[in-house]
Amino acid sequence: MTIIRGRSSTYLFERRKETKESFFRPSVNSHAIPMSPGKLTEMEKERYKRQLLIKGFGQKAQLSLARSTVGVLGVGGLGSPACMYLTAAGVGRLILIDDQIPEVSNLNRQVLHWERDVSSGREKVESAAWKLKEMNSDLEIVEISERVTKKNLSAVLKDADVMLDCTDNFETRYLLNRFCVEEKVPFVHAAVEGMCGQITTIVPGKTPCLRCLFPRPPPKRQDIAILGATAGVFGAMQATEAIKLITGVGETLRSKLLVGDLSCNTWDVIEVSRDKGCPVCRR
Ligand SMILES: [Zn+2]
Repeated sequence: MTIIRGRSSTYLFERRKETKESFFRPSVNSHAIPMSPGKLTEMEKERYKRQLLIKGFGQKAQLSLARSTVGVLGVGGLGSPACMYLTAAGVGRLILIDDQIPEVSNLNRQVLHWERDVSSGREKVESAAWKLKEMNSDLEIVEISERVTKKNLSAVLKDADVMLDCTDNFETRYLLNRFCVEEKVPFVHAAVEGMCGQITTIVPGKTPCLRCLFPRPPPKRQDIAILGATAGVFGAMQATEAIKLITGVGETLRSKLLVGDLSCNTWDVIEVSRDKGCPVCRR
């Protein structure tokens, strides 16, 4: 992994050099999921009262969340907080994909997995699923304890309205990117290291794809440093981006890469553009 020092932040991974071509900025929120008729129950109104107060949110947005499916690839440091906030917000269905079992060294950051899960032999998706169901019994969860490959990707992810890239390797990220570009599924990429992180929202056909931004994978390394709270911040941001995509409320990080360094509290938002020669998303 190459780290480039920017104006004020530490950048994870070497990005493609930006060209001077105009920044592609699509209209905001055109990917919001269409509403169908229905209304909230009295209990739901009470439960989600505080977010229903957000300007522009309202019952329509809440119903959109309830009818949506979010796929979470990787239920670890980023996936744990992302799943928890999606569940708390009232997303109707989560597809959890992870083929690992919780380990002791996961516990500093993967907050959905506890000491008892390490020795239980439970897979991460199972360990996460029961806790999320305890948080919100209306949530439907699909547990997929498989390694994602080219072959099984479309079967695993076919129902997702939005995907979250919470994985920790570029091999899987590139697979997800290609699938999402081909199937036109918006997805939220995030990555963290130490006390730094980055996040962007990719809307296929409208924004650069992940390969436009990172044409080459960083070198593989073992045991990357990470403070759990860093993953917590960026995982929560991924949930927020997904909620904005689904409801149409707010402005997402479309064509923008947000890079944060929590060690010195600096944040950069970098406008990113498509790579005309991108092997994945060029037309
Ligand atoms: Zn591309």
